[in-house]
Amino acid sequence: MCRAMLILMHAQATRSEIDNVLAHVRQHGYEPIELPGADRIAVGVLGSNPASVRDHVVGLPGVVDAIPVSKPYKQVGREWQPERTVVDVAGVRFGGAEFAVIAGPCAVEDGPQLLATARAVRAAGAVMLRGGAYKPRTSPYAFRGLGAAGLALLAEAREQTGLPVVTEVLTPADVELVAASADMLQVGTRNAQNFSLLEAVGQAGKPVMLKRGLSNTVEEWLLSAEYIVGQGNRDVVLCERGVRTFETATRNTLDLSAVPLVRSLSHLPIIVDPSHATGHRNLVAPMALAALAGGADGLMVEVHPNPDEALSDGPQSLTFAQFGELMEELRRVGDAVRRPLAVS
Ligand code: PEP
Ligand code: MN
Repeated sequence: MCRAMLILMHAQATRSEIDNVLAHVRQHGYEPIELPGADRIAVGVLGSNPASVRDHVVGLPGVVDAIPVSKPYKQVGREWQPERTVVDVAGVRFGGAEFAVIAGPCAVEDGPQLLATARAVRAAGAVMLRGGAYKPRTSPYAFRGLGAAGLALLAEAREQTGLPVVTEVLTPADVELVAASADMLQVGTRNAQNFSLLEAVGQAGKPVMLKRGLSNTVEEWLLSAEYIVGQGNRDVVLCERGVRTFETATRNTLDLSAVPLVRSLSHLPIIVDPSHATGHRNLVAPMALAALAGGADGLMVEVHPNPDEALSDGPQSLTFAQFGELMEELRRVGDAVRRPLAVS
């Protein structure tokens, strides 16, 4: 049974023709979603059996056809929306012409650590700050973040540097609190199929960065994004951060092919996290450059003032100097592939 249908209309369809279609869809018990586009106007219909509406709309003035959406994910797919989505996070754009670099420590540890890192990454050219206040740790005895105090430090760092902030939220109960401080909510790999959290961030009114689940297929990942978009939040940035494989020499296996694949299947922006994908700081720059050349919309990179003393993920964190060098190399590769780096 078809669960999503697209009513395709002429690009020149008039307002009253579109309204007429919307009214017919509503008459049959479905809530239509208007999808304006450059080359076509479409009306999306989601529900248990939207195909039942088909015969009532095909033939109406302005309607070209009504077709089922073939993929299991609907609103995040290219069938639903051929044009790429640009997600604007407090002025930083993901999915447009520019390549946006997010950087910062794995975890917010204290004020000086965060502020020094924020200043250094900003000076090197990052346009957004990352830092975990709520850390999902494999061991309950590991440093699990400063919680609300960490959020306050992130807000302070944003104030001082002007960099918008992305930080992880672990549970639906914290979404409101985290959304009050953050410019973008991060859903981590371990929560990528926590469907109640996905729905909660879908209602939070802030852009969401959705990491790929540890062992998720691209289709599962896009279905997770569908949970968020299904709540009315279209501002989703996907983040490839490596997947679990048999390989133990790296922390995860970076699936770089997911970048062009996701771009072909979905209109959502996609960025790469080479830090968690590799687990080793000497592998971060090569994979970051490959991500840029491979068509990613941006990066998220872990940076620490003194990686050897980091409370989490030191081995994969870059020093300030290494991050500066990486940004230089990214500019050069960006020039070569005609992908300018976003500047703030
Ligand atoms: C992180 O970015 O802080 C993080 C925990 O990453 P992941 O969910 O990809 O492991
Ligand atoms: Mn980390």
